[in-house]
Amino acid sequence: METYDLIIAGAGPAGSTLAKALEGSGKRVLLIDKQDFPRDKTCAGWVTPAVMETLNIDLSKYGKGRTLQPIRRFRIGMMGQPAVENDHGRVVSYGIRRCEFDDYLLNLTDTPKQLGTPIKSITRQDGSWQINNTWSAPLLVGAGGHFCPVAKLIGEGPGSHETTVVAKEVEFEMSDEQANNCQAQGDTPELWFCRDLKGYAWVFRKGKYLNVGLGREDNHKLTAHLQDFVETMKTSGRLPADLPSRFKGHAYLLYDHAERPLVDDGLVLIGDAAGLAYSQSGEGIRPAIESALLAADVIRRAPDFSAKYLQTYGDAIAARFGHRDSITEEGFQVPGWIKMPLASTLMRSHWFTRKVVTEKWFLHQDVAPLAANS
Ligand SMILES: Cc1cc2nc3c(=O)[nH]c(=O)nc-3n(C[C@H](O)[C@H](O)[C@H](O)COP(=O)(O)OP(=O)(O)OC[C@H]3O[C@@H](n4cnc5c(N)ncnc54)[C@H](O)[C@@H]3O)c2cc1C
Repeated sequence: METYDLIIAGAGPAGSTLAKALEGSGKRVLLIDKQDFPRDKTCAGWVTPAVMETLNIDLSKYGKGRTLQPIRRFRIGMMGQPAVENDHGRVVSYGIRRCEFDDYLLNLTDTPKQLGTPIKSITRQDGSWQINNTWSAPLLVGAGGHFCPVAKLIGEGPGSHETTVVAKEVEFEMSDEQANNCQAQGDTPELWFCRDLKGYAWVFRKGKYLNVGLGREDNHKLTAHLQDFVETMKTSGRLPADLPSRFKGHAYLLYDHAERPLVDDGLVLIGDAAGLAYSQSGEGIRPAIESALLAADVIRRAPDFSAKYLQTYGDAIAARFGHRDSITEEGFQVPGWIKMPLASTLMRSHWFTRKVVTEKWFLHQDVAPLAANS
């Protein structure tokens, strides 16, 4: 049995950020992921500048040989009515490919890794967690995404009692002909809200790649909504008629809907495992990274790994993202007050789509990036 101070289950943005942040802390850390990297992750691949700033990513270096699509405009509409386009006059976000981005983050850390290694068994003995009967540590951090095996050890774990967002997307490299005919512009992602405001679709061009998807609160008629959207966009010529039909699905939790406890004795959850994605937009990469940094801060100073002490991390999450108990908004990405006939008018307003939808709900421009050493 190899022993460590902590084991991180999952090497996505949350896990790799935590591993990197704990370098130099004196803690012996092992990072485990079931997949070999580079690996893909179902995701639109949109990241806000706060992510790049917090991680101190050198954009010119990152952009060499990788897709890095600057975003300056958004095209926003409600399905069945014309969209409005807002120019922000500067770069307000980026498009990345997860197979490249996650691999880049993972390579930033020298932490020992066990990749291509599914966590199959977790047992507890003498105050230590034993993983696959091979590695042990007194602290286990769940960074394994929505169905993280560590999340199963806390509270009720993942399951049908949770209200999830279910999303489907396809990302593919366009042929020259598809790229020439594609009306979607790289610096102008398109967001199309479902008429019941329970979800939205996106068309996101990143260099040669096109990412099309739709996410909805719960699984209600997701495929039907997606098919309708794709057919309408094909008919209007905004999407290639020969768009691949291999849409991949994935579920995750929005912060306001998640009820997962974040800590227990010797256990901490970060990123999607903790259910932290922003409720209005579904953006999960920024909360994954920020939760990893908040956890690192608590772990670095830990006198012990008791639930009582680790709750310091739970408190830090509540201070950063809000107290879950006090959040009453329902729905996927829009607060209850907007779910009214007024919505279709507001979605035609340049002021509303720019100031509220984009700058507040999607870009969170009012929330400063988390300092990496906080
Ligand atoms: C369709 C869709 C579109 C999205 N678009 C965006 C977007 O544009 N921008 C954005 O910010 N967010 C987006 N999100 C959310 C975002 O993808 C997640 O919030 C983010 O990936 C969370 O990162 P993470 O590190 O917590 O988990 P993940 O990225 O899911 O990483 C978890 C890792 O754990 C590993 N793992 C899982 N189980 C095990 C196991 N048993 N043993 C070992 N390893 C395991 C997995 O292989 C994986 O590498 C989208 C989500 C979906 C579904």
